[in-house]
Amino acid sequence: MRYRQTFIPTLREDPTEAEVISHKLLLRAGMMRQVARGVYDFLPLGLRVVRKVENIVREEMNRAGAQEILMPAVCPAELWQESGRWDVYGRELLRIKDRHDRDFCFGPTHEEVVTDIVRREVRSYRDLPLNLYQIQTKFRDEVRPRFGLMRGREFIMKDAYSFHTDLEDCQREYRNMYDAYRRIFDRCGLTYRPVEADTGAIGGSLSHEFQVLADSGEDALVSCDSCDYAANVEKAELVPPAAPLATHGAALTPVETPDQRTIEEVSIFLGEPPERFVKTLLYETDTGAVVAALVRGDHELSEPKLKNLLGCQWVALAAEETVHKATGAPTGFAGPLQIEARLISDQTLRGATGLVCGANERDTHLTGLDIARDLPSLQFADLRRAAVGDTCPRCERGRFTAHRGIEVGQTFYLGTKYSQAMNATYLDASGAQRPMEMGCYGIGITRTVAAAIEQHHDDAGIVWPKPLAPADLHIVPVNWNDATTRKAAEDIYAELQQTGTDVLFDDREERPGVKFKDADLLGVPLRATIGGKSLARGVIELKVRADGAMTEVPADRAVEAIQNALSNSEAT
Ligand code: ATP
Ligand code: MG
Repeated sequence: MRYRQTFIPTLREDPTEAEVISHKLLLRAGMMRQVARGVYDFLPLGLRVVRKVENIVREEMNRAGAQEILMPAVCPAELWQESGRWDVYGRELLRIKDRHDRDFCFGPTHEEVVTDIVRREVRSYRDLPLNLYQIQTKFRDEVRPRFGLMRGREFIMKDAYSFHTDLEDCQREYRNMYDAYRRIFDRCGLTYRPVEADTGAIGGSLSHEFQVLADSGEDALVSCDSCDYAANVEKAELVPPAAPLATHGAALTPVETPDQRTIEEVSIFLGEPPERFVKTLLYETDTGAVVAALVRGDHELSEPKLKNLLGCQWVALAAEETVHKATGAPTGFAGPLQIEARLISDQTLRGATGLVCGANERDTHLTGLDIARDLPSLQFADLRRAAVGDTCPRCERGRFTAHRGIEVGQTFYLGTKYSQAMNATYLDASGAQRPMEMGCYGIGITRTVAAAIEQHHDDAGIVWPKPLAPADLHIVPVNWNDATTRKAAEDIYAELQQTGTDVLFDDREERPGVKFKDADLLGVPLRATIGGKSLARGVIELKVRADGAMTEVPADRAVEAIQNALSNSEAT
């Protein structure tokens, strides 16, 4: 690949619209451009990286026995109406009409379309299992598209769907996909963790997110410091405390707390530590219910846990008006006694005494709350978000540590949700008709590209993991106008091309400084610098992008030395 013939519009300055490093560097390295909010062009080098990820994914999916298909990007509304998602998917679904005024959507995911294929063609248990996947452009009209490829509106996803006769076989395939995902992200050269994920109302532990670890990640994770349990903080299971909070043995007493609303404010005002407080959080749900969720003052509520417990589509903090109706007081003074809402408490509060809570009255709190005495019929559940130092639910020995992650993939057991709604059945060996069990497995191809940069960059630019780099080697002839340099560089380039090495050959008449800067920015793992002075000494210089290590190698054995360096793990 000759630089002059390749469209690489690099930028000297940081583009102002970019908030995260991957977005900045992809724009600066001339690998992509924005067309509309969350919608991008991929330019030649950027597309090469996208293709590298796709190929790794494709090879491993095929190896795992899945079969590639291609479904339409534009999907008829009828299928989405059958599954019921046309009405519940909300505004992320880009809805469009054709010239006959018929409804379509631009697919954000393809459960409906693939289930339709399978229900029409598969009749018998003999035709199962089946795992079909595609690599395709998706559209999700995200409320806040941001961070470049990390959260776009249009993006490329690999989505696979598997169909089975029974749960056992579905679990076997789930494992198979889980293993394939590990191979994929290992091969991409990324540091990641598979974490247990929120499974929505279905429950169970059959969902994992594959999280690339990076400080800029949107997801908060915890992992055990002594076993391999890891989970999203919202989902991580928590064990109930060994003993409830020690008692003060006090009676319920109203205290004046003028204008002190938050736990921090009241805590300072009353001189009680936050863990002695009960936070009463009022939520509204899609079914119109009002729920008061109680958590300890120093804990955070996990909304997904609450949502799953209630079995509803969504929960949202109640509006001021609803709070007033349920408590008779403004926001900031809600408490569990005499509240008009369903009460649910986090398990940590079971049996606790001597607590402080809101009094459902302006400028007033109650001290001396005894959960068992004052709220005898309270329901308890695991409702709080995990935090650093919490005990691991698996080994019950280790403690949680925290990480930030970028979700690059997710595996999911779907059960018969779609097959039942859309009548995807098969005849079992005894001739009975049964719904198929399903799993689905997604990988964000373009998000993986961004995640690789978030994890692998330095001040000078991108430092591609070797398997994803747009080229294996970047050749920089220092002075293009020097005939000896040019000839030596051209010879090496020609010979490497014959061996199938992917080379970016900087044949521009630019100043050396400009070429080196661009090379660092583009992040190709190995650079070969060919200069007149070193040639005169019979050597060229190799530099590893990742650690800056430089070596001189004999010019007449350059190709061999380059090939050795490329197969050497230091360049990865
Ligand atoms: P998120 O929670 O980040 O919104 P999701 O859980 O809704 O993602 P899935 O439905 O699991 O996403 O989609 C599979 C994969 O597609 C995700 O793991 C992610 O890598 C990718 N993906 C999802 N939404 C986007 C997006 N807006 N931009 C880029 N990639 C995305
Ligand atoms: Mg997901």
